[in-house]
Amino acid sequence: MCSKDVSAVASPIEIVETTVNTAQSLYTGVSLRLADIGYLLKQIAEISKHPPFDCTFSDMYPIHEYKMGLKTKISFVCKMCNIERTIHLIEETDGEMDINSVLALATVSTGSGYSTINEMLSVLNVPFMSNSTYQQHHENVADIIEETAWKVVEEAGQEEARIAQELGEVDESGIPMITVVADGVWSKRSYFVNYNASSGIVGLYNWC
Ligand SMILES: [Zn+2]
Repeated sequence: MCSKDVSAVASPIEIVETTVNTAQSLYTGVSLRLADIGYLLKQIAEISKHPPFDCTFSDMYPIHEYKMGLKTKISFVCKMCNIERTIHLIEETDGEMDINSVLALATVSTGSGYSTINEMLSVLNVPFMSNSTYQQHHENVADIIEETAWKVVEEAGQEEARIAQELGEVDESGIPMITVVADGVWSKRSYFVNYNASSGIVGLYNWC
């Protein structure tokens, strides 16, 4: 018989760990995970033919899974020499968004939200994360989107200023003059009472 211990920690990032003490029951039925296939195969090759008995990967079985959102690492133990090794399904790279934040960005970019992506992954039988954990990644992504948007706006402004100077379109102080067209809109909702929406959009375009 095997024993299974499942624990979940909600703060700061939800972590789910599953452990078994035999070769049988860590995975039963369909157990889909997100993996970088090349990175996964490289790690499997590295732990195959391991000393001291040149055991292969087929001699190893999973005993522990550590899930943090879509990030997963699995520990294997060798039934021949009892050595234990851990494989990451997706490589951790410094300075890049992790897969959970990338998923939050994809969700925002497609105009959907937690419920939609949670439902989709549930149908696929891929374990996901709690709403509170998702919201933490969502906030991180929102900061990155804002920083990137400001950077793009500043770069566009510098480019327009350079073009204006080349064309001699400057004021008496030498400050570049850029002709722009602006427009904005927000909805006026009135389902039950007459009130305005709390957000809208504004566009500012260079006029050449
Ligand atoms: Zn071994």
